[in-house]
Amino acid sequence: MFLVFAIPKTMRAVVYRGVNDLRLETVPVPRIGANELLVKVAICGVCPTDIKKIQHGTVSPPRIFGHETAGTIVKIGGRSSSLITRHSSLKIGDRVALHHHVPCLKCHFCRHRAFAQCETYKRTGITAGFEPAGGGYAEYVRVMDFVLPGVVKIPEKNSFAEGAMLEPVNTILKAVKRLNLLPGDNVLVAGQGPIGLMFTKILQLAHVNVLATDLLASRLKLAKKFGAKWTVNPERSRNLQVASRRDMNVATGGLDAAIIAVPSDDAVLQALQLVRGGGQILLFAHTKRAAKPEVQSPKSEVQNESRSHFALHPPHFSLDLASVCLDEKDLIGSYSSDFTLQAEVARLVFSRRLDVRPLITHRFPLEQTAAAIALAARPTENSLKILVTQT
Ligand SMILES: [Zn+2]
Ligand SMILES: [Zn+2]
Repeated sequence: MFLVFAIPKTMRAVVYRGVNDLRLETVPVPRIGANELLVKVAICGVCPTDIKKIQHGTVSPPRIFGHETAGTIVKIGGRSSSLITRHSSLKIGDRVALHHHVPCLKCHFCRHRAFAQCETYKRTGITAGFEPAGGGYAEYVRVMDFVLPGVVKIPEKNSFAEGAMLEPVNTILKAVKRLNLLPGDNVLVAGQGPIGLMFTKILQLAHVNVLATDLLASRLKLAKKFGAKWTVNPERSRNLQVASRRDMNVATGGLDAAIIAVPSDDAVLQALQLVRGGGQILLFAHTKRAAKPEVQSPKSEVQNESRSHFALHPPHFSLDLASVCLDEKDLIGSYSSDFTLQAEVARLVFSRRLDVRPLITHRFPLEQTAAAIALAARPTENSLKILVTQT
């Protein structure tokens, strides 16, 4: 005996039709092949990387976005009712969290654990139609076979919303593991949005002292609840310097690392000054590439040269490279997820050692996805994680 779900021919989906142009449309329910899943979407988180694509048109339309997805398996390709994958056995009716990027684990990049650079990883394995783009802003998604190892069952006691948070938590845990931290270390986390708050909590769980900064007082208050030892509004850079000297300089030599969870170049420069020699600065939110240099006309080559230079490196950003060489400070980045951490991530979230529920402040129905994205793009005093829900 197994569950049978009635599956309609068409469904509602929010289709990206161009820059800032999202439309609720009726589209076919995706067809699935052998060893693929059809999942009825319950919840999809709104992620800054999708916002960037929608607002800046960095990818071509039409697409259906949304990749922090949780839902119920309603069909398995090849007429079976269950499917054994490398990591679990899945069956119709299972509540699952999805993972849209899974690396091959075999290529040159994967052998160096640079999963986000792997060709297989770069393929998006979940779609609701059109060029695969996650598909979570639709009623159903097709889960292709190569991302099945990333499908995680949601325990009975946990909600779909908690399942949808696995993907962002994974990206955070991956970044934390790039830092050489010891218990008792001091780390600056710049930015206390949902991502920054989760960094704060995960670091606290690793017995690291967090100095949390944000411009919003409400977020600093929450940072305390998420385990920050110190909180500072960095508006005047003096505040930060005073705080880091007063609170942590004497015994330990200052900040051991800084995580920049806001796309602010000033925060990076400030962190480079504050972090001790041999410390690390990790960029997490600098996901927008600098403007390309303008096409040069042969007439005014000199002028254009300087202009294109500024386009690549905004004039206010000057990095003293001696801080990297002489002071041995590492400037590193982390992007996207590490599939091999998925089991650890699931334990962290589902055990509620990292309780993601207080982060969820807004839920929008599917037809209001554009409003959900607009709010996530311009957070308010009381907005944190925003979900599109269909439950
Ligand atoms: Zn995301
Ligand atoms: Zn690979």
